Amino acid sequence: MKAVLSGIGAALLLLVVVLVARTAMVPAPESFPSSPSPVVFSKEQAAAMTQRLSRAIQFPTLAGQADAFASFHAFLEQAFPLAHASLSRQAFGHSLLYHWESSNDCAPILLLAHQDVVPVSSPEDWLQAPFAGAIESGYLWGRGAMDDKGSLMAILESVEALLAQGQSPACDVWLAFGHDEEVGGVQGAGKMAAWMLSEGLQFAMVLDEGGMVLPGATLGIDKPVALIGIAEKGYLSVILTAQGGAGHSSRPPEQTAIGELSRAIMMLQASPRPAFLNGATRQMLEQVAPWQPWGKRVVFANLWLFEPLVLQQLASKPDTNALIRTTMAPTMLSAGVKDNVLPATAEAVINFRLAPGENRETLMTWLEEALPATVNARIAEGFFAEPSAISPVDSSAYQQLSVLAEGLPAAPVAVPFLLIAGSDARHYEALSGNVFRFLPASFEREDVARFHGANERLALSQYPAMVAFYASVMTSAF
Ligand SMILES: [Zn+2]
Repeated sequence: MKAVLSGIGAALLLLVVVLVARTAMVPAPESFPSSPSPVVFSKEQAAAMTQRLSRAIQFPTLAGQADAFASFHAFLEQAFPLAHASLSRQAFGHSLLYHWESSNDCAPILLLAHQDVVPVSSPEDWLQAPFAGAIESGYLWGRGAMDDKGSLMAILESVEALLAQGQSPACDVWLAFGHDEEVGGVQGAGKMAAWMLSEGLQFAMVLDEGGMVLPGATLGIDKPVALIGIAEKGYLSVILTAQGGAGHSSRPPEQTAIGELSRAIMMLQASPRPAFLNGATRQMLEQVAPWQPWGKRVVFANLWLFEPLVLQQLASKPDTNALIRTTMAPTMLSAGVKDNVLPATAEAVINFRLAPGENRETLMTWLEEALPATVNARIAEGFFAEPSAISPVDSSAYQQLSVLAEGLPAAPVAVPFLLIAGSDARHYEALSGNVFRFLPASFEREDVARFHGANERLALSQYPAMVAFYASVMTSAF
């Protein structure tokens, strides 16, 4: 008995030694000195840039609004005369592809942003009219301020500012501004990417919207974090159809279509797809470890032991649950035409967001096995995307982008991140091994709901720093 106890004691001691040693092995936090911005703005110049962004918001570039896109393009030409004189521009439908040639012979970079915006579903909730571009209380308000005209305009401002100073890019810069990102990007980004691929183009780096600078509290650190998307989830909608006895509702059978469909949805929700701590999410946790207080660092430096605990914690909130597994969301339901008639079929649409590692094949196989015989699953028509590849974080492109992100005014810690929504970046995977998703601006946690929601706005203080960030990107070789 004594031997057993001392054996357990020795094992525990060994465990503590391993935990402490691994925690101690976490490198000290490293911050990089930021190089001075290639562009600086006076108060008047910053105000003029804000005015131009305000104008950009006023074009309701919603899917199908051809006039809005045409007048937006005319506005861009007038707002950025130097850029339009020096860069070549070609149109793919309403999408625009710019090329800025450099005198140096090095691999080009590609910056992405999209012109289209999502519709406003509840105008009564807005404090400012969504398409007025109001400048009020230190913010620029309006649909597109964050997603994604802020980026689009900041990119063109940086080109214009560099040209005004007689500067040119370090390597060729391409700008691709899609017009249908919010509906999948197939006609815009899809066509531009296919054309560039046919031209044999390859990029040292592709940068799109996606992550942003947010408070680091969720990750257990005091400093803000610059979330650099290195991967994004896939997108698949599936239609579930249940059969049941049709007929008069006065003598219902045991199995009804609506009952079977409801049972199937409840069952799927009760046994979600498995959670994993791998890829971008694992790298994110490992990279914040140096900045964490000791207690938390013990956990993150020893994921080999604490992984189940961390997964449980992440799974407890929708935001973080989406980082670790394929999620399912029942989004549409239809059955029945009359209150006293049993429908023969009932249908539901389930929107899945596929985690890297999952694909259409594995998901459909799982569904077919999991569903009862009375319910059938088929892939819905329309937009579909597999999860993206994961861009490496040990590349010089990622390292350089991190340094630039850490040079933003909030002085954040750059960490890799899995984008749970979609972006146009997915269309450009064949054009670069280094595809990143990052909007260079700081937001509060509660601001995340403004994307596609009410009161979308950008802090005026953020905008010149965004422009300077893109100018630094363009004057760097990746
Ligand atoms: Zn967007």
